[in-house]
Amino acid sequence: MCARGLVAVTHLDEIRVGVRRVENFAAVMGEAPTRAALRTAASLKRRLDGRVLWNVNSTAVGGGVAEMLRPLLAFSRGAGIDTRWMVLRGNPAFFRVTKRLHHALHGSAGDGSPLGEQARAIYEKTLSGAALELVARVKRGDVVLLHDPQTAGLAPALQRAGAHVIWRCHVGDHARNDQVERGWTFLFPYLKEVPAFVFSRESYVPSYCDHGKSHVIQPSIDAFSPKNQELDLDTVRCILADVGLVEGPPPPGAACTFRREDDTPGRVERRADVVRHGRAPSWETPLVVQVSRWDLLKDPIGVMLGFATLLESGNAHGAELVLAGPDVLAVADDPEGAEVYDRVVAAWRTLPEMVRARVHLACLPTADVEENAAIVNALQRHATVVVQKSLQEGFGLTVTEAMWKGRPVVASAVGGIQDQIEDGVHGLLLADPGDRRAFASALQRLLEDGELARRIGAAARERVRERFLGMRHLLQYARLFEILQL
Ligand code: UDP
Repeated sequence: MCARGLVAVTHLDEIRVGVRRVENFAAVMGEAPTRAALRTAASLKRRLDGRVLWNVNSTAVGGGVAEMLRPLLAFSRGAGIDTRWMVLRGNPAFFRVTKRLHHALHGSAGDGSPLGEQARAIYEKTLSGAALELVARVKRGDVVLLHDPQTAGLAPALQRAGAHVIWRCHVGDHARNDQVERGWTFLFPYLKEVPAFVFSRESYVPSYCDHGKSHVIQPSIDAFSPKNQELDLDTVRCILADVGLVEGPPPPGAACTFRREDDTPGRVERRADVVRHGRAPSWETPLVVQVSRWDLLKDPIGVMLGFATLLESGNAHGAELVLAGPDVLAVADDPEGAEVYDRVVAAWRTLPEMVRARVHLACLPTADVEENAAIVNALQRHATVVVQKSLQEGFGLTVTEAMWKGRPVVASAVGGIQDQIEDGVHGLLLADPGDRRAFASALQRLLEDGELARRIGAAARERVRERFLGMRHLLQYARLFEILQL
């Protein structure tokens, strides 16, 4: 999809930014807030006065940052602001160092490499080439948003060239240990003179950046994307029956279609690879769903065992569990995912037969990212309860996505999930993610009390409308530019 949008240069690729009209928000935010946003956009456009707004990160597809940038930059361009998106081309050695940095900022040792002078030399070599190319294009007064540790080392050269640099760190953890210290010691020399930092949570702001220069802007989801766009019930049923997640046949006359990012029609055609004992759940079966990468921090085995506790208590109200994640066989560069998936399947095999018959492990096709997103969309919409029993979580977009679909969510009170859900109001929080009984009893409450589930689902959707859609995100950027007098 992106290949058409790439203009190759040596150390950077320019990604084509689409154009979306801010007016589109009226459909989800209402007329008056959208008019106010249009006024803000017009004043930002005047303020920038033809200067370019650059964004630099390290991937155009896959990952939450790219998923957020694509729509936000398109709206910015739609507001008449000259918005450009550059993606770093690193080599494997560079990405090994930046992955190590990523782990360090999360408080862990990653591959255990020292993050010393050799790592710094690798990091600077890639970035000095990219900086030369950027500086040749960026004009004095332009605004450059650098995203994540991969791009921090570009800041000094850009500042010397007269650009206004903002560094946004999407990575975060409240942990403060030796590893975190190491990560910041590595990065901070590049960031010393940067006038503004953006973090996703207050508690993620490190002491290095905590000098009145840090701002909090939370992530957002795109209400119009294949992942979150409205799908009617027949379409949901058609998609889920066709991929093999609910029993067929699809309703007569229904089509498994969705709208692609570029507004052309898309169709779900591939099947999921499902491990199950017996049949797919019927359309009427209440589903408990967790959608996640196959990662132990998402606690997939704990979800199964907690669900088994619920089944054993006899209070499951006929519910079945779907654990869904990306097709691990297709993701050649994620050996960790395949390994975790194998462990989940092995744990599933040890479950009693009556539990196995109600737990479905689904690998969703990933060959077409937008098709994958439409399947996730349908599955989240069909879920009776969505769960996210993570042991650790930066923000937890799957929670936001489910809340936007009006689903009641049971999630761990960790990381950014706590900013999204007020316990008992917009979802149910698990104070201790490892407490299987509490998990089972939260599920039971929502499965047996339809009114509670409906009330929580409706409050969840409102919460996302108010706080976690793109318009709020864009307005916060506009406000930040105003504060910085750009
Ligand atoms: N996701 C997806 N397909 C899958 C599994 C996950 O598109 O098969 C998406 C999910 O919908 C969400 C993102 O991957 O948008 C995961 O983001 P989150 O913040 O929940 O967790 P992360 O993976 O960043 O730790």
